[in-house]
Amino acid sequence: MLVAVSAALGWMYGYTREAVIFVLLLWIGFWLYQMHRAQLWLNSAEKLPPDADGIWGELFSRIYSQQRTNSRENAQLQSTVEYLQDSFAAMRDGVVMVDKQGAIQWLNRAVEPLLGLRYPEDTGQTLTNLVRAPEFNQYFLARDYSKPLQYQAASGDRSRHLRVDVTRFGEGERLLFIRDVSSEVRMENIRRDFVANVSHELRTPLTVISGYLSTMLENAQDVPQRYIRPLQQMDQQAHRMETLLKDLLWLSRIESEKREDEREYVDIRALLQELKDELREAYPETRLILEVDVEAKVYGDYRQLYSAVSNLVINAIKYNTTDSPVTIRWTSKNGRLRLEVQDKGIGIDSSHIPRLTERFYRVDDSRNSATGGTGLGLAIVKHVAAAHGATLEIKSKLGEGSTFTMVFPQSS
Ligand code: ADP
Repeated sequence: MLVAVSAALGWMYGYTREAVIFVLLLWIGFWLYQMHRAQLWLNSAEKLPPDADGIWGELFSRIYSQQRTNSRENAQLQSTVEYLQDSFAAMRDGVVMVDKQGAIQWLNRAVEPLLGLRYPEDTGQTLTNLVRAPEFNQYFLARDYSKPLQYQAASGDRSRHLRVDVTRFGEGERLLFIRDVSSEVRMENIRRDFVANVSHELRTPLTVISGYLSTMLENAQDVPQRYIRPLQQMDQQAHRMETLLKDLLWLSRIESEKREDEREYVDIRALLQELKDELREAYPETRLILEVDVEAKVYGDYRQLYSAVSNLVINAIKYNTTDSPVTIRWTSKNGRLRLEVQDKGIGIDSSHIPRLTERFYRVDDSRNSATGGTGLGLAIVKHVAAAHGATLEIKSKLGEGSTFTMVFPQSS
């Protein structure tokens, strides 16, 4: 439009080309001037845009409103970050944020006494260069955070039990929560010692009681007839209590024992054969089938492993239907070693399965008084499995039977 008007005016005076060039130069100069103003404004701390009309005015006001929206959002984001940092800082648990490369991005003050890190001096440093505990570094670098790490850390002249939970976020960043669980561990030790001591102390009086009961029943002719039945019941219950105490003591030994010198490469084929021979005598009417597909050995404690498998097989026999066999398998699947005990017995309703390994948990009390169980067998199996880096899988269908499997890592 401007060009057309200037061309017309120029034509009237005989300078069409010059007029057009002149007007175009003016136009370019004006744009360069506005661009310069825009640049000055954007580079300055000045908030309000420069005055301008037309297209430049509109452009400035758009940029201005976009800037205001951005800064509002930034402020909101900043206050959320500050709020999160403040809440992490106020936490009694230690919190450390670590980037993709393993360098500390942020940490709260509670970490100082736990991991010996300093805030804020240690930000930017590689976490594993600063933490002195090999267990911690191994766990952190292995990048398998499915289970928390618990370890004993020496700090100054005292040692604490620390629990570390790691959560991944963003693109490889990690958030660590470190908690001092020393008092929980102390309570757990007290509980374990108490159970072990009580069980131990009760054994002697119980042995005396059951000794006298056996003697009296052996000499039943000297005992008035009306006492025979009560004595028999007392004798039966005393035996049950003995088994219970034995299981409780064994369980607390497995829980507390981590004796490396008891560990060896256990030949599972030989262990299963020995167990089969022993049970054939105790339960001659049950068919036991042994299927060994692998020769792999398990690095661990023979007695513990023997007691775990024997608990599983005795359960399978107890809860089996009389004519079907109990199958014991030692196989390998998906890179894991599996010790399976399968029965075609009464089975277990799925609602009970998650609680089966709790101490004293029974599916049905009447069922157990008939089978004389203590409710500790599966708790023992679970602890033995855990002590060998294995897990216990339970598959069962009511009325169809059950399969209990200890799954070991292949390298064990
Ligand atoms: P118990 O000494 O009572 O057998 P366990 O801890 O060994 O104690 O087992 C807990 C409960 O799980 C048992 O009381 C029983 O009800 C159930 N159970 C265990 N093994 C089997 C099985 N093979 N078939 C059916 N039920 C089972």
